[in-house]
Amino acid sequence: MYDNTGNRRLAIAASAFAIFCISSAAVSSETDFGYDCIDCPAAWQSIDTGDRVNNCGGPDQSPIALSTGDGKRRNVSRLRVDYGRSIHFEEEELSTNYEWFDLTQSNSIRIGKTRYDFVQFHFHSAAEHVVNGERTPLEMHFVNQAANGALAVLAVFVEEGSYNRDFEPIVESINNGFEGDQISVDLRDLPPRTLRSFRYVGSTTTPPCVADVQWILLKEPIELSSRQIEAIQDEIRHLNGGFDNNRTVQNREYRTILADARHFGRDDDDDDDDEDDD
Ligand SMILES: [Zn+2]
Repeated sequence: MYDNTGNRRLAIAASAFAIFCISSAAVSSETDFGYDCIDCPAAWQSIDTGDRVNNCGGPDQSPIALSTGDGKRRNVSRLRVDYGRSIHFEEEELSTNYEWFDLTQSNSIRIGKTRYDFVQFHFHSAAEHVVNGERTPLEMHFVNQAANGALAVLAVFVEEGSYNRDFEPIVESINNGFEGDQISVDLRDLPPRTLRSFRYVGSTTTPPCVADVQWILLKEPIELSSRQIEAIQDEIRHLNGGFDNNRTVQNREYRTILADARHFGRDDDDDDDDEDDD
């Protein structure tokens, strides 16, 4: 599965984790975190995150566990996903994951009147958020950022099912050891068609665990075939010494989970949708 380039990347990643696990006290870079120790995610709050405040021990962390019934149905701010077609991505390797960055910078989402520009997407194996006690094999994060730096993450749950043609450029790139590093994907086709969601405020799920992240957990999962899921999971586990890259569920405390009281379909053009949910 890996060419020479892939092996080199894995070797670099493995050495970063070795440092972390041998002596977490000596860790000096925010990239020196990992999942390959039983309590790694718990230890994140003591690592040095450089210029940025380490908020991993702070309140209102992500991910969380929730039940469908927890969602308080409200007229939450309307969500629009303005993702386009035929987007070019450049893969960037972090020590624990691959992230696909948009080279076109032409995509965005809107929550109410606030626009968040799409930055990158990546996967977690298994899902980080747990819904009704269930954890899907993958969770996809579309990271979006407003002009003031605020983050909004669109989370999409991936279930095992039918082969998904829209994801094939991603899987193919992984299987080819990221030869060429750039892929072309129809970004618009990756999230589900229906945008019903749970909303809550949390953090990024990797250090420095940035606070005040707007989380949008889409209720409708997407499907990938078992082969497609395995290709993505294998890559993540190779990077992480055999471990998955999902942070442990965090204390929800008194946070309110909101749920759409209306359908927000991808094909809706405007705010004229007052259809009741379910
Ligand atoms: Zn993520």
